[in-house]
Amino acid sequence: MPELLIVGGGYAGVWAAMAAARRAQDTDSGDELNIRLLSKDAYLTHRPRLYERNPQDMRTPLPPVLGPIGVDLALGEAKSIDPAARRVRATGADGGDREYQYDGLILAAGSVLRRPPMEIINAQTWSVDDHAAAVALDQHLAARMAIPEIDADADGDTVVIIGAGFTGVELATEMRGRLAEHGGAARAGRARVILLDAAPTISEDLGPGPRPHILQALQAAQVEVRLNTMVRRIEGDQLSLSDGGGITSATVIFTTGARANSLAAGLGLDTDPSGRLFVDENLSVKGLANIHAAGDIAHALTEPGTDSSHVALMSCQHAMPMGKAAGYNAASVLLNLASRPYEQARYVTCVDLGPWGAVFSTGWERQVELIKAEAKARKQFVMTEVIYPPMNDRAAILEAGALA
Ligand SMILES: Cc1cc2nc3c(=O)[nH]c(=O)nc-3n(C[C@H](O)[C@H](O)[C@H](O)COP(=O)(O)OP(=O)(O)OC[C@H]3O[C@@H](n4cnc5c(N)ncnc54)[C@H](O)[C@@H]3O)c2cc1C
Repeated sequence: MPELLIVGGGYAGVWAAMAAARRAQDTDSGDELNIRLLSKDAYLTHRPRLYERNPQDMRTPLPPVLGPIGVDLALGEAKSIDPAARRVRATGADGGDREYQYDGLILAAGSVLRRPPMEIINAQTWSVDDHAAAVALDQHLAARMAIPEIDADADGDTVVIIGAGFTGVELATEMRGRLAEHGGAARAGRARVILLDAAPTISEDLGPGPRPHILQALQAAQVEVRLNTMVRRIEGDQLSLSDGGGITSATVIFTTGARANSLAAGLGLDTDPSGRLFVDENLSVKGLANIHAAGDIAHALTEPGTDSSHVALMSCQHAMPMGKAAGYNAASVLLNLASRPYEQARYVTCVDLGPWGAVFSTGWERQVELIKAEAKARKQFVMTEVIYPPMNDRAAILEAGALA
């Protein structure tokens, strides 16, 4: 029986597994594919929610999603891929070496925080990039708030967020609420939250439509925004800035974007500036037979062959449909069925803006459609419903894996 191996248990990998299992039902025998998903842990981590309170809860266990559809879960970290031998080498959860032979491979290993180069001496810095990092930050915030204010140094309650893109803005507007949870509203109200970026405009990538709303929300949340500013050096709790100034803070958080998982570079192919693998319209990696890629590790066009095409973003909005298309197509290749191109014309943006609300826009021009509470309700629907796969219900899981 052919072996389909999926590396990565995020949105792309999980939706790929569901779609491959669903596609296997389209053969007459219905059971001609072994599907295995290899991931570092047994959870789908909801990375888009890691800026929120209680980050420890922001993950879905994989066995109730994969078990009912007959997908094997292997725990471990893929270390290298040998396309000629069709083999993935990995370190298992017990630390031992593992090898996985495959007939078809889907790379869905996602991305990691892109840290800007700077000197960091005797300092711990933080992020919300993965589950462990987000939980560690939350514990750190709790620990800071547990230090009596009178004992904390003058800038002990200063939080510096480096990177004013989507994630930086969401975290900055939520930060006072997070501090309040651990230290009470009065103390959180006195804290300084600084959002810093090297760019001259806030959230440059989000365009001019949402920007005025983002600025309003940052002001309402009393976030100090410092643009055109780079952190040159961090030593202990001292930050040296490009404008010659400095900040004292024990809580420096990086939200400086993402680059593709290094498994992509390991293949020795051309990659885009974010380290992503180029894929064709069926999400097959260009230059390699039997390997598909989806999610943050893949450079794919949203409407291949048309003038309105864009490069899919590193977003769960793109990772889920890409995962589905890769699962469908990888299974189709192994089952001698027809592939279907990945196409995703619709694009929306919804930025959470803390107590102010949110801003929801449609299209690549980011036409603002909803703001404040209405947009917040839309965001909450996406964050609590859309990005969660069904569990413990074979029919519902396979249905969620069906291509529209
Ligand atoms: C704080 C934050 C906020 C975000 N907000 C939004 C948002 O509001 N909207 C939006 O659309 N997107 C958002 N994103 C982006 C979104 O989370 C990613 O685009 C999405 O998670 C990509 O899905 P993926 O499956 O490609 O990769 P990931 O979700 O990164 O999943 C990759 C999986 O592969 C596993 N893995 C990695 N390396 C290996 C290996 N070597 N071997 C085995 N397994 C491995 C990982 O453990 C993980 O399970 C946000 C991201 C962050 C960090």
